[in-house]
Amino acid sequence: MSESLLPRTIVEGESPEDLLRSWLAQQPHHQLAVVIDAAVNELHGEALRAAISGPVVWSVLPRGERHKVLHTCETLWGTWYDHSLDRRALVLAIGGGVTTDMAAFAASTWKRGIAFALMPTTLLAMVDAAIGGKTGVDFRSGKNLLGSFAQPEALLIAPQLLSTLPIRELRCGLAEMLKHGLLFDEAHWHELAALDLTASINWLPLIRRSLGLKTAIVEADPLEQGPRQLLNLGHTLGHAIESALLGTPAELLHGEAVAAGIYIEAQLAMRHAGLGREVAAEIESVLRRLGFKLELPRIDEAKLKTFLRQDKKNNLPKAGAVELSMVLLERIGQARYAVPVPEQEAIDVAVAHMTSTV
Ligand code: NAD
Repeated sequence: MSESLLPRTIVEGESPEDLLRSWLAQQPHHQLAVVIDAAVNELHGEALRAAISGPVVWSVLPRGERHKVLHTCETLWGTWYDHSLDRRALVLAIGGGVTTDMAAFAASTWKRGIAFALMPTTLLAMVDAAIGGKTGVDFRSGKNLLGSFAQPEALLIAPQLLSTLPIRELRCGLAEMLKHGLLFDEAHWHELAALDLTASINWLPLIRRSLGLKTAIVEADPLEQGPRQLLNLGHTLGHAIESALLGTPAELLHGEAVAAGIYIEAQLAMRHAGLGREVAAEIESVLRRLGFKLELPRIDEAKLKTFLRQDKKNNLPKAGAVELSMVLLERIGQARYAVPVPEQEAIDVAVAHMTSTV
């Protein structure tokens, strides 16, 4: 594995076409293979293609998490095979986290690994999925069960791409940014808390800050043996809620579930990490003001338990009470990881914050 999982270079600029043109001009690649999300291709494909001079192997991936599977990679590898993509080729992924995770996985295994670069097109991918070196696809019912750690050649950040992103998707990225602020940087939390998502926003400095916070933690602990676990704030309950509601009319997007998780976990943080009541109230009011839906349908306890137990971090004894290993806030800008919380207590608090039956 390479020493660092961070991109060798990060380049930014408002216009994706200008950014691509100027960055590619400096790349000594031998063949170029673009892997692009279908919706992004519809909206931006023609303009992006025009910014690339010379031949390119252009693959369009179907949109959505259900296509983040080995079968889609096989199709991609098939195209690369047909075009004799060799070890000096460069893969450029253009899309949200589904595309960047999957194209990076395909590139990191093609001929034992070829160079790849990422141009994220969702806010979530810009501040989270495209940074940190995790690549992968889903397998059976498990998310990202097949994957690798791999270092991208470059990360290309062009916020103009966000102009076509639906507001629900934008909010999902914002949830991860708010998480970064809560964990590491009070000022970042406050600047995000003041945003008006219906107005035009100058995203670049905000993305730069959030990305910097994630970069610092990945640098400190690339393989998640220690403080990188902090990034799971809101995810223990958030992920269980997301999984439990999957396929129901109340289904949530990942970032929406993380926001609900941050809200409920703040209640646990008051008991186990000394978080002030007024801070928990501030977190709730900011999330509500930004449009996150915190009224969850009542989820069956047994169902919640099943999904909580899939969390790899937990201590699952053969007998006796299960303890969850959680990330809990001490105050805004500081959190603790691996805090043991009785599973039943977490379930009780979560259920107490659910309102209707699903
Ligand atoms: P996504 O890639 O599915 O994109 C969300 C939706 O937005 C899709 O329908 C897509 O077609 C559309 N879209 C993308 N860019 C657009 C644009 N500019 N304009 C209009 N529509 C656009 O989802 P996501 O939220 O970006 O990423 C989620 C994925 O990221 C999950 O698979 C998750 O596992 C992964 N992830 C990975 C990491 C990591 O460390 N590798 C971290 C967080 C999340």
